[in-house]
Order: sequence, then structure tokens, then C-alpha cells
Amino acid sequence: MPDELRGQRPTWAEIDLEHLEHNCRSIRRHIGVTTQMMAVVKADAYGHGAVAVSRRLQAIGVEWLAVALPEEGAALRDAGITAPILCLGGFWNDQADLLLQRRLTPVVYELNLVEELDAAAKMRRQSADYHLKVDSGMGRLGVPLEQLASFLSEVRKFTHVRMDGVLSHLASADLENHDPQTSRQGRVFEQAVRQIRAAGFQPRYRHLANSAATHAKPETWMEIVRPGAILYGLREDVLQPGGIDLRLEPVLALKSVIEQLKSVPKGSALGYGASFRTSRESRIATLPIGYHDGYPRALSNLGTVLVRGRRAPVVGRISMDLTLVDVTDIEGVRLGDEVTLIGQDGDQVILAEELARLSGTISYEIVCRISPRVPRLVRKTDAA
Ligand SMILES: *Cc1c(COP(=O)(O)O)cnc(C)c1O
Repeated sequence: MPDELRGQRPTWAEIDLEHLEHNCRSIRRHIGVTTQMMAVVKADAYGHGAVAVSRRLQAIGVEWLAVALPEEGAALRDAGITAPILCLGGFWNDQADLLLQRRLTPVVYELNLVEELDAAAKMRRQSADYHLKVDSGMGRLGVPLEQLASFLSEVRKFTHVRMDGVLSHLASADLENHDPQTSRQGRVFEQAVRQIRAAGFQPRYRHLANSAATHAKPETWMEIVRPGAILYGLREDVLQPGGIDLRLEPVLALKSVIEQLKSVPKGSALGYGASFRTSRESRIATLPIGYHDGYPRALSNLGTVLVRGRRAPVVGRISMDLTLVDVTDIEGVRLGDEVTLIGQDGDQVILAEELARLSGTISYEIVCRISPRVPRLVRKTDAA
């Protein structure tokens, strides 16, 4: 158990910033030097801890950071992050001034946002940059192509704002059999950019590529790519199979310890609803981690954890704060032993992707739902 956890429950996430840096450099080599990188650190850097992640990414020269909410951007500014920050989800009532104050660049997709930004900039006697989001076929945020002309003619009236970027988001770049949709979105985006330029706007940046497109669709790279998941080493449910191997390393591990260890007779019922009954005399370990911590309840009687480099199955229902595992077959197991729920122990590895597959979700949700109750510890390198 790490020293930092003295006086706390020993359940923690370990963040390996060397792996983050390795992944980032690998992506950089892949995209070359003419395309900038906008690292997506929304949702507390996909649960990895946005401040530590952003500091390292900024230190190794990532040009942009992207968050979902202005609040997330403000928290990074509070922590001393100076890199340009794009707020992907736009902004809400009365946040325009916050954007200017904290040097956050919003994405806009509705006229009222431009209007508010313009008013706030005017008050401050300055000019505010924004990136315009076009809906190229995802159907979520963005100005639809059919409404772009009228949007542009309205936007022109606001003199304290500048369209510095144009972006769109791909719906299915991770799915091989959806390549036609991805290409169609690319064409719609190109058409939108042509229309924007023809209307006299000169955005410096065009960006479209998420992780999957950064990996496999160079035609989408343009001035900036916006990878999120691959920075954190997620890949199996993020990227199309095949293509270049970016040699991504998982950045997050989730760990706990054995809090109680007991021998129970054959036929013992374990956990809520007695959903597991021992078929032999068993050694059962109780772990101080549950679904509130982000270990999905759907893994009840399905998941496995690593103890002493071996797999131990989750038995019974996962509860809010506690999980039971069967350690009967693990030799030498003791109270206080470290347990790996995500990560590597010896030659065994449990990826977030595995937990996702078993619990019917995607790796993104597994890592970003690790709750704030779980401290994030930056892993010390051997040299440190
Ligand atoms: C989250 C997000 C990304 C990053 O997606 P990944 O699949 O994690 O690379 C890129 N662009 C936008 C607009 C996003 O919301």
C-alpha cells in the first residue's frame, strides 16, 4: 500500500504519467509535426485526474487541451495550466465572462452563444475567439449544413468575436463497417469549410479527428487532431482493428487490499440476495471497493481481480462499498495483500476493456466512472 494512503482507506487509482507521455509521443510520431495535438482531458481526464495529466501533457508540448465544461477549464487554470483550452460543450448562462477571464475558448453551435460571447467581450473591450461546430452527421451539437448560410450571415454582425476554428465530430470512426459514414461526414465538413471561407471567415484551425480517426484516417487530421482515449492507453474498443500499432500503454490501474479474509464451509451463501453459494470449503476475501467507487455492479459473479499475480473471481453481488473474491486457489494469500482490479500483477493483466466487455459498456465509461472517493496517485518512477 502506498505511503500517501496512510490514514485513508487503501483503495486507489495509480496513474502512470510515463505511460501517458509514451502514448502522447507515439501519437505525435504518427501524426508528424505539421498537425497540432489537442489532448482531450474532459471528465477529469477520463477519470485519470485532469490536473496531473494536463501538467504532463503541457510540459511535453501538447499545443491544446480540450474540456467539456468551462468549469473544467477554470479548474485547470486554477492549477496553473497556461496552454490554450477549448470547451467542447460550449457554455451556459452567464459563463461568457468566465471564459474571457480564464482565457478559455468556447465551441459554439447556436447564435445565442455568439451573442453572449460578443457582449462579454465588448464589456471588456477585447475580442474573443471561438471555434464553430458543424454537425456533419453525428446529430448532436453543431450547426447543420442546411442552416450554415443563415448562421454565417447572422454571426457577421458581431464584431467582438472571431471564428478561429471550425470543427465537427465523427460518429463511427472506430467501426470498420461504418467507413462510408465517416467519409460522408468528412465530405460534409469540407463543404462547410468551403462555405465558411467563401463567406469571408478565416478560421486558422480545422479539426475533426478523435482517437479512432487519429489512428486510421490521416485525411481527417488537418490542422489539429483531438485524441482522448488513446492518450490513456485505451484501444480495444476505441480503434478499428489493424492499422499501425501505436504501442499504447494503459495509464490507469485500480487497486485495493484484502480487508478481511475468512474460511467458509461448503454451501455458504455470500452477499446480497445470496446469489453465490460456495461449492467447496472456501477462502473468501473482502475488498474495500464497491460500485460507488466505480467498480461496476454488473461484474457481480463475473469479474476477476488479481491477487499475488493470479486471478481470483468476484463472488456474490458487488455492493456499494465492498466486493467479495474467492481466493481459495491462491497460495499464501494474507490479510492486507494488494489486489489489482484494473492493471498488471506479474504476468496477468486486467484491462479496462475487459471489465467493459463483461459489464456491457465501453472502456471510457469504466475509467471515467471511477469516483472521486478513490484517490488518484501519480505513480513514482523507479528513478524517483
Ligand atoms: C470526447 C471527444 C473527443 C475525444 O474522443 P476519443 O474517442 O476519446 O478520442 C474528441 N472530440 C470531441 C468533440 C469529444 O467530445
